[in-house]
Amino acid sequence: MCQEELKELFKKNKALLNGHFKLSSGLHSNTYFQSALILQHPKESSKLALKLADKVRKDDIAVEVVVSPAIGGIIIGHEIGRVLNVRAVFAERVDGELLLRRSFTIDKQERVLVVEDVITTGLSTREVINTIKSIGAEVVGVVSLVDRSAGKVDFGVPRFSLLNFEVKNYKEENCPMCKAGNAIDKPGSRK
Ligand SMILES: [Zn+2]
Repeated sequence: MCQEELKELFKKNKALLNGHFKLSSGLHSNTYFQSALILQHPKESSKLALKLADKVRKDDIAVEVVVSPAIGGIIIGHEIGRVLNVRAVFAERVDGELLLRRSFTIDKQERVLVVEDVITTGLSTREVINTIKSIGAEVVGVVSLVDRSAGKVDFGVPRFSLLNFEVKNYKEENCPMCKAGNAIDKPGSRK
């Protein structure tokens, strides 16, 4: 499946939207990914997980556990855990920190694959990596459905994404869509 076919699949499920959006990072963008709308279909999520897991396997990266940041990464992380036949846990934000809760544990030296739905600035991914490292485990790779940085964000480990392209993000004061007076949508938050 090529990039264009993947984009079509996302668009068909309204998981890829064009407009004027305020992202959770606070930045404004003309593109928004709502991965939940594609991941709500178990058939599609397992198909996408299979593709990502294939990339990990092709690179001979041995994985012992998958860790995803909640909530966006949970479904795809779990599906990838199924394909790789390893357990899948998730990290949640507690007092501003992304931590393992619910009695989830990872062992020292365990080989961890970090799974995200969308990477934009890589901030939450980096936080999860730091949490894993602080436990003494090893991050062996990062995978995501979508990479909005077109590979520019570097985590110092191998990483793969299904959809790679650079999306223009703007600070509010520089946003051309704000300047044009376009109404803004804040998807992902309650209306
Ligand atoms: Zn704007």
